[in-house]
Amino acid sequence: MEELPRTGIGEKGRLIGTITVLLVAGFVGTSLFAFFASRDSIRLSIERNSLPTAAEYVYSSLQKELLEPIFVSSMMASDTFLHDWISRGEADVGAILKYLSEIQSRYGMFTAFFVSDGTKRYYEPKGILKLISREDARDEWYYRVRAMAEPYEINLDPDMAHGDAMTVFINYRVLDSSGAYLGAAGVGISVARMNAIVESLRLDRDTAAYFVDQDGNILIGAPYGVEPAPRVHDDPALHAVAKAAISAGGGSFRYRRNGSERLLLVKQLPEIGWFLFVERTEDTVLTSASRALWLNLAVFTLIVFIVILITAMTIDRYQSRLERTASYDQLTGALNRMSFGVLCEHAVKEATRSGSPLSIVMLDIDDFKRINDERGHHAGDKVLGLVVAGGQSGLRQSDPLCRWGGEEFIALLANCDIDGAINAAEKFRASAMALCGSEGCGQVTLSAGVATRRPDENFYSLVGRADEALLLAKRLGKDRTESAEP
Ligand code: GH3
Ligand code: MG
Ligand code: MG
Repeated sequence: MEELPRTGIGEKGRLIGTITVLLVAGFVGTSLFAFFASRDSIRLSIERNSLPTAAEYVYSSLQKELLEPIFVSSMMASDTFLHDWISRGEADVGAILKYLSEIQSRYGMFTAFFVSDGTKRYYEPKGILKLISREDARDEWYYRVRAMAEPYEINLDPDMAHGDAMTVFINYRVLDSSGAYLGAAGVGISVARMNAIVESLRLDRDTAAYFVDQDGNILIGAPYGVEPAPRVHDDPALHAVAKAAISAGGGSFRYRRNGSERLLLVKQLPEIGWFLFVERTEDTVLTSASRALWLNLAVFTLIVFIVILITAMTIDRYQSRLERTASYDQLTGALNRMSFGVLCEHAVKEATRSGSPLSIVMLDIDDFKRINDERGHHAGDKVLGLVVAGGQSGLRQSDPLCRWGGEEFIALLANCDIDGAINAAEKFRASAMALCGSEGCGQVTLSAGVATRRPDENFYSLVGRADEALLLAKRLGKDRTESAEP
């Protein structure tokens, strides 16, 4: 049987489009929202927890490192040996060298020193290093210590006695019992020990820590993933935020380097007058969030694909079911009048165009009322179905068959002249009768009226002539085929 034209493809496309847009908007929206929310909470936890903890760790490690040197230096400053030795006019140089050397080795210090205010001699374990002079810029520290009110300072300087290795010096003021200034004594510890703290922080917590002095010089450590910049103020990425941090005396900041966000915490270390900068990038933590985002989107694409596939299949199934219900007679499965009309219109146009013959066969079950009356409507319904099933097997597959009325049918025969149509009607009647017989419905006969379209004849006139031929067949005794005048 000929396929009926499909409808509703545009609506299906629109529906699937709408569903896709809604799903994409929903999924992408929630995925992005989740990503940004987790990014914000990661940032917050870095700023509120990781960085302060790291800063606290560095600060307390630093205090631990400095505690002993400060203690040793204060002990030196108040040592009666040192005071006596000075008051004896610094005569026995060997004694002070031995003393310094003992301090150095006993406490594991990088160096130990005493600078006498009286002689301006700089003593260190190996000997007299130099004479202190106001003119020498490298001795500036001494005059600063000499003038300051605090008992000691912590200072980072190159150590001349050790090939200018960067050293943290504890410079303690030595005062006699009357409070007169005798000089500066103290110890130096290697910066390497500070570097180790910074390095362990970098390895364990992916956090960079560096010490910056009031002038912006980076003393120990380096910003995240950068070679040490000489001054934070000269670092193009850092300078603005460093300036703000130093003038504000510390705080929480963000800046960008190499296209990624850096979270920075600055803490002022009042004891040594430095600033501790701790910073980390959020990149490493964000990779897991963005991996989750991509995974989400991949799963979502799959889900959308499956949903669209299922929707399309469901629509197709319902559409064809709907089309079947709308186009076919439910009882017999023959075409209904509406869909048959569409095919006939098309067939008439085609016959007009090509000039090929077009015929119809109108069939009516004989004495059907009696079948109903004698065996009931249910049996009547069964006969109707069997007549269609059997009759159709006598037609070509391409010939549409329509239930025209109660027990009346029309077959449309394209490319078929009157003889072919009579032949088709006979076959229909015979095979319908045979099926009814074999299915236990007794003797069921049909009458048929056949007509072939005249040139320019419309479909309804053709049906009218076939109907007349059918009436003639009834009048002539039923169970026969009559044809209309050509
Ligand atoms: P004729 O040989 O002259 O065609 O006589 P007939 O009895 O077949 O014709 P008639 O027009 O007198 O009766 C047709 C009967 O078909 C009447 C109607 O109740 C019955 N009928 C129509 N539609 C259906 C149906 O769907 N199911 C059943 N069971 N009967 C139907
Ligand atoms: Mg009848
Ligand atoms: Mg009838």
